[in-house]
Amino acid sequence: MITRFAPSPTGPLHLGHAFSALTAWDMAQAVGGTFLLRIEDIDQSRARQAWEAQIYDDLRWLGLTWPTPVMRQSDRLDTYADALDHLWDRGLLYPCTCNRRDILAAASAPQEGAPMGPDGVVYPGTCRQMSRTGPRPTDTALRLDMQRACQTVENNYLSKETVEAIGDVVLARRDMGTSYHLSVVVDDAAQGVTDVVRGQDLADATPIHILLQHLLGLPTPQYHHHRLIRDDQGKRLAKRDDARALSLYRAQGATPRDIRHMVGI
Ligand code: GLU
Repeated sequence: MITRFAPSPTGPLHLGHAFSALTAWDMAQAVGGTFLLRIEDIDQSRARQAWEAQIYDDLRWLGLTWPTPVMRQSDRLDTYADALDHLWDRGLLYPCTCNRRDILAAASAPQEGAPMGPDGVVYPGTCRQMSRTGPRPTDTALRLDMQRACQTVENNYLSKETVEAIGDVVLARRDMGTSYHLSVVVDDAAQGVTDVVRGQDLADATPIHILLQHLLGLPTPQYHHHRLIRDDQGKRLAKRDDARALSLYRAQGATPRDIRHMVGI
C-alpha cells in the first residue's frame, strides 16, 4: 500500500490537515506500506517557501516520516504538458477565454442563480465551439469536454446528470499550464499511490479524477473520503483559520497525542 498527503504550501496546516495526514500514515503503517508527502505548489502566486518549511516541521513533529526528495509539482510542468497534449490530440480539450464574470453572467438562471459544481459555478459551455485543431494553445485556459470525454471511455460510467452537474472543468489554467485535477491524477499514478485519503470536501472531484485516469490510461487508486473537522460553530476549517493552525496548538504546549485526540483518532 502506498498512501500520500499532498498539501499546498499556501497557508498553515490545521487540524483537518493533521487528520488527513495521520489517517494516510496510519493506514500505510498498519500494513507495512509507504506514506509519501507531495507538495502541490502549482499555484506559484500563492505558494510560499516558508509554508513548505512549516509543513515539514509540523508533520515531523506529529511523528511522520517520508521518503525524500519529496515530489514537488512545480518541477513537473513538462509531464503535465505531455498529458495535456495527449488529450488535446484527441479533441477532448478546448481553449476558453471566459473570465469569472462572463461565466457567472452566462450561467445564472434568473431565479435560482448559477448552478455550482466541484470548481464553483458550472461552466455553461460558452467556448465549447472554439477550434480544437492545430498545436495546443498555451496562452489560454483549456477545458475538458466532459461529454465527449465520457463517450471516449468504455462503459460510460458517469451519468448524464453527473456530467451536467460537473461541467467542463479547467485542466490547464492560463497562468499555470496545468490544474489541480490534472496534476493530482498524473502524480498519484507516477508515485504508484494505491490509496488516496482526502476530505469529504473533495469527494465531488473524485469522479473527475477517475475519468481522467481512464482517458490517460492510468490506474485508479482506492479513494477514502474522511469526515471533515469542524470548528465549534460547525464550520469546516480553512487555511485562513489560523486559530486552528497546528503550530498554534504546538506553541500552547499540545502534544501529538493531544492532536490525535482532538481529531478523534
Ligand atoms: N492539494 C490538495 C489540498 O491541499 C489536496 C490534494 C488531494 O488530496 O487530492 O487540498
